[in-house]
Amino acid sequence: MLQSALKFTHTLLYQSVEEGDTVIDATVGNGNDTLLLAKIVGPEGTVIGFDIQRDAISATKNRLIEADLNQRVQLIEAGHELVDSFSIKESSIAAAVYNLGYLPKGDKSIVTSPDTTIESLSKVLPLLKPGGLILIMIYYGHEGGAEEKEAVLSFAQSLPQKSYDVLQYAFINQKNSPPFLLAIEKK
Ligand code: SAM
Repeated sequence: MLQSALKFTHTLLYQSVEEGDTVIDATVGNGNDTLLLAKIVGPEGTVIGFDIQRDAISATKNRLIEADLNQRVQLIEAGHELVDSFSIKESSIAAAVYNLGYLPKGDKSIVTSPDTTIESLSKVLPLLKPGGLILIMIYYGHEGGAEEKEAVLSFAQSLPQKSYDVLQYAFINQKNSPPFLLAIEKK
């Protein structure tokens, strides 16, 4: 009955993103979210994906080509904190997805970090359209993960209630730092 945090993220994306929308995958990694988003936005939509790892970007590019979805995805090998350098219009983004932590089966020393994550989130907020969502899957079991979790929670908790709804979706009886979702909806 209760969906995992990751599954619930996908449910929210299916409910809120429409064909033709523009969305951001802030942490492309192996491209799982990128592919899902590319399917949801359809042939007229656009996915803008960021990752700092060249291998992640090129592996995802290959997956997109194989699935014939590459035309609707712009992959950028750069940190998501540079999101304001790519002429994305204000109030144009239906959803932005973040998966924090390290790339599974990748180099575990390359992780998202509190400063750049917060910088990116601050820059994405004005890009969201009304009803737009930022969905952040927080993995925090690794070194430095707890600090990032606290920083992101504190950032999200401080957002004004008149402009944003902020939801934490978490299982509270699971062991070993279970990942959880923070969802920010622009009013
Ligand atoms: N969503 C991905 C998937 O489907 O496989 C998993 C993402 S993984 C948990 C986190 C990713 O964030 C890594 O691939 C890492 O290279 C990337 N990353 C770390 N810092 C980043 C930054 N400042 N900007 C963009 N990506 C970053």
